[in-house]
Amino acid sequence: MPAADYEIFDPRFARLIHTNAGVERLYSGCRWSEGPAYFAAGKYLVWSDIPNDRVMRFDETDGSVSTFIAPAMNQNGHYVDREGRLISCEHRGRCVSRIEIDGTRTVLADRYQGKRLNSPNDVVVKSDGSIWFTDPSYGIDSDYEGDASPHEVEGCYVYRLDPATGALDAVATDFEKPNGLAFSPDERLLYIADTGLSHRVNGPRHIRVCEVAADGRSLGTGRLFATCETGLFDGFRLDSDGRIWTSSGDGVLCYHPDGTLLGKVHIPEVVANVTFGGPKRNRLYICGTTSLYAVMLNVRGATWPKA
Ligand code: MG
Repeated sequence: MPAADYEIFDPRFARLIHTNAGVERLYSGCRWSEGPAYFAAGKYLVWSDIPNDRVMRFDETDGSVSTFIAPAMNQNGHYVDREGRLISCEHRGRCVSRIEIDGTRTVLADRYQGKRLNSPNDVVVKSDGSIWFTDPSYGIDSDYEGDASPHEVEGCYVYRLDPATGALDAVATDFEKPNGLAFSPDERLLYIADTGLSHRVNGPRHIRVCEVAADGRSLGTGRLFATCETGLFDGFRLDSDGRIWTSSGDGVLCYHPDGTLLGKVHIPEVVANVTFGGPKRNRLYICGTTSLYAVMLNVRGATWPKA
């Protein structure tokens, strides 16, 4: 029964789902699925299988799955920028890179104040073209999803990259393990997950929401938005009304912007990340450990605000 795929905590969630349309498993056979990004023009989705060092591609036109990039520098998070180029977080490259229109790879950022980054994890592109990403240590902590290596940068920061000048600024330095991140539809808020629980008992397992400064270049310290009760919030995306659809240990949780937990989409594996896709952006793609899942929603993913 498709309805069994959902848990409704708040009646408002019932309007966001189709109880006659359940969760579909589109592919299985990965070790750790992450980093989904949808190419609207190409009608396909790419996602990372980090320990297998490959990026996969799901073709929405015929349902086929193929290898998109391998070896893949243990890529993790992805985003498609306004020019339609793929932005990638590379664990093994310890950088954020971009695939140009001609197919070549450009390293956009790999050092902060002369020191190598840890292992960029997740990334979003703001409407002004700036690239915001998190840099926890997961890709240098072991050889499983990168190369085990010492830290060079003191901490695990959130960065803003100006691709026009190459300037890289740390916009948040007080997270333990900053992970997923996403802007509100008006870009006045930036939500950032902290998965520090992975390294410290009673460490953070929450999403913090920070105000973006009026000049669009820096952040306030923010406030706690939501705490994850099962597993960790890893990656997430917002819908066009500003709700947060986030990964967790046993499914996808949907939060109202006021912090109310509205509902859950059950997934039979730990979920790492999600993104909206499909011609109407109303299909939520879900990366859950070994598999790629999708569900049709009655809401559309957020896009860049109109200038
Ligand atoms: Mg992540």
